[in-house]
Amino acid sequence: MPVELRRQLAEVYHLPLKELLPAAWRLRLKNFPPVLGLATPGSKHYDSGDHRNHRRLFVTISITGQGCRLQCEHCRGELLKSMYPATTPAALLELGRQLKDGGCRGVLVSGGADLGGRVPLLPYLEALAGLKGLGLKVIVHTGLADPATARGLKNAGVDQVLLDIIGDRETARRVYHLEMDPADYGAALENLLSAGLKVVPHIVAGLNFGRLAGELEALYQVLSRDCRDLVLVVLTPLPGTPMAGITPPPPAAVGRLLATARLAGPRLNILLGCARPAGRHRLWTELYALRAGVNGMAYPHEATVARARRLGLKPFFSDLCCSLL
Ligand code: SF4
Repeated sequence: MPVELRRQLAEVYHLPLKELLPAAWRLRLKNFPPVLGLATPGSKHYDSGDHRNHRRLFVTISITGQGCRLQCEHCRGELLKSMYPATTPAALLELGRQLKDGGCRGVLVSGGADLGGRVPLLPYLEALAGLKGLGLKVIVHTGLADPATARGLKNAGVDQVLLDIIGDRETARRVYHLEMDPADYGAALENLLSAGLKVVPHIVAGLNFGRLAGELEALYQVLSRDCRDLVLVVLTPLPGTPMAGITPPPPAAVGRLLATARLAGPRLNILLGCARPAGRHRLWTELYALRAGVNGMAYPHEATVARARRLGLKPFFSDLCCSLL
């Protein structure tokens, strides 16, 4: 079966795009209602003709502030700068109370990683349960979670966990500075799933300095387990990092990955996530994603929403993370 799935993925992936996209679109229409979820969480301002987000409804928190031991090449801690810092369990709970009083409905708890690629969540389990007690939706970025963390998160009652799956040993070493292979990411996924958590794996297209390497293997790690959702994001060259000047993978390549995921995972809830290059790249990626049969996307361009309507899809907006669509 594993060999079979790997072979299927490779075969589908190499189909000409003009066959791949229509096949993926037909399957989407057959297996899902004609709706398109559109997520506009509060980490970015969003205002199109159709929808304006309420930035307080959903926020992202870093339990390490701007600190990160791994200093990955694509981030170097830059992604942490826009998050609310809460670097002790008491501070996390207090922030949760303040946010809730201000109308917040949910949080993504994230943070920098330790040298093993884990977000150091263990001291925060009780505070996470406290956030749930306040009535907030709680999503957690775990990194390479061990079984104890996975069980603790389940007991804390968190709603979802998000985990990046790296399908290439060299990418893990060169970008994340981790001596890990795809099976280690599969094992972390397994730890979270077997604790009974709802896991939403993320795959980053082009993470290896813009080059596609291991995305299919990452897809294999997801599809060979009992995952119902998948988020694909695209490497975004960030100023202040060694990847500032690199070229991200082209929109058509992202469309190819999404269509492959659709055909190999006919009932998978597939989402195009928030981390993506801006401008024309963003629009073209979204147009490919529509044709590849995604179920939803984050921060859509208004032209994408119009195209979705012309294709017969009914868009709806949510100010929470796309994983909650
Ligand atoms: S990709 Fe979706 S689930 Fe992941 S952080 Fe962005 S909006 Fe949230």
